[in-house]
Amino acid sequence: MSTTEHDTAPTDLAAPEDAASDDTAARARIDADVTALRRSFDAGTTRSLEARLAQLEALRCGLRREEPRLARALAQDLGKSRTESAMTEIGVVAQEIAHTAKHLKSWLKPTPLSLGPMLAPATGQLRREPLGTTLIISPWNYPVNLTLAPLVAAIAGGNTALVKPSEVAPATSAALTHLLRTHLDPEWVRVVEGGVEETTILLEQRFDLIFYTGNGAVGRIVARAAAEHLTPTVLELGGKSPVFVDEGADLAVTARRIVWGKFTNAGQTCIAPDYLMATPRTLQRLMPHLRRATRALYSGAPRRSLDYGRLVSARHFDRVLALIDDDKVICGGTGDADREARFIPPTIMQDVDWDDAVMGEEIFGPVLPLLAVSGPDEAIARIRSGDKPLTAYVFSPRRAVEERFAEETSSGSLALGVTLAHVGTPGMPFGGVGESGMGAYHGRAGIEAFTHAKPVVKKPLSPDTLRLVYPPYRGIKRRLLRRLFR
Ligand code: NAD
Repeated sequence: MSTTEHDTAPTDLAAPEDAASDDTAARARIDADVTALRRSFDAGTTRSLEARLAQLEALRCGLRREEPRLARALAQDLGKSRTESAMTEIGVVAQEIAHTAKHLKSWLKPTPLSLGPMLAPATGQLRREPLGTTLIISPWNYPVNLTLAPLVAAIAGGNTALVKPSEVAPATSAALTHLLRTHLDPEWVRVVEGGVEETTILLEQRFDLIFYTGNGAVGRIVARAAAEHLTPTVLELGGKSPVFVDEGADLAVTARRIVWGKFTNAGQTCIAPDYLMATPRTLQRLMPHLRRATRALYSGAPRRSLDYGRLVSARHFDRVLALIDDDKVICGGTGDADREARFIPPTIMQDVDWDDAVMGEEIFGPVLPLLAVSGPDEAIARIRSGDKPLTAYVFSPRRAVEERFAEETSSGSLALGVTLAHVGTPGMPFGGVGESGMGAYHGRAGIEAFTHAKPVVKKPLSPDTLRLVYPPYRGIKRRLLRRLFR
């Protein structure tokens, strides 16, 4: 890896000629990888159902074999517990493989097309055609899940894939590279480790799809580079996912679900509840439950809890810490934070204003601001006035209120009475809308993202019914055509 997001400055600054030759070497390696994958795709290596299933099986075995290595890396990069890693990273991918392998044959089956009387006699079908050589660029927060789940879809769709894990989680990047190089066929999948420099070189290449997960600023860089080759992109981005807690909701359960969703992976989850809105009365009642739930989940001493994660880097630690206003803290705060250990306790802030720093960006850390609103009307108006979130959460005992959020707000997904867990289901398409991204994957949606739906239409040469539409248009033919196309 030549470029990483490190907390300290590099000690050996390379001479310009060295940097140039590094760049040339990286470019040559990437060129060779893309050429090999493209050649393999063109040779048909990835087309048959059997070959796809065999590669998925290789990934499943590799995942199982390398689980301890991956779990160690996740603990090192993010302080993830073995159980959390099993649940939110490795297990999710294993389920995705199992679900995809089980349904792939039926998903790939051509579906008949109804062509209508104008073309009769004719038959048509819709085929799922592999796209070709794809690029998967993944982030650091769920580095195993967000690298391998798209890869499952790429393989199942019959594509070759070049994978670029995030350099911000370096131990996991190395473990993923080991897994993919050891267990998968290089004719299908190759890995490029690195940061901005390598990704920039990668983006100069022509791919048939770029699947990017990460922040919107880099999403724009990816989309711009893709436009150069007219390459389609799936952009899985983030943003501020709101929660609204309505009057009358069961506050004990609601608090547990929100606290779990917020503080899992120390808040570094793209769909973590970013901020919470409720009426002042509901907030007053909810606060003790939020505090109690936080204590219950992390044993009152999150620093010692094996189940509480760490910020990924000192840079992220500094960024998140700066969002905390200790005067507003009702739980956690900067006092217990430890930069060396990249530890920030689960922190809840009350009386937060819409123009406070914590509301200026996606928090992506263990800080939950509470904001007073007058009711569902204001909560909906607040959501509508911002960027479209990746997920919106509503806890309400009223069907009509839930329905209003479903109809009147736009977000990647809407979760009623639940946080995080809804995206673990392979049956649900997962993706954003507007500023939170474009395109979706998981299960069948993944196959749709990584294939082209190609209509194949067949019309017998006899009888030649198309004679009707050939010119010259005169007399009865003209009258008939005008009537038909009226
Ligand atoms: P990151 O820093 O790991 O970046 C993501 C990828 O982009 C990495 O592979 C990185 O090497 C590459 N990259 C970074 N800078 C680049 C540049 N200038 N040019 C080209 N490539 C570059 O991760 P991140 O962006 O900090 O991830 C956090 C963000 O991702 C949050 O906004 C979060 O909400 C979002 N996210 C979204 C999802 C989702 O599924 N929608 C999942 C996880 C994270």
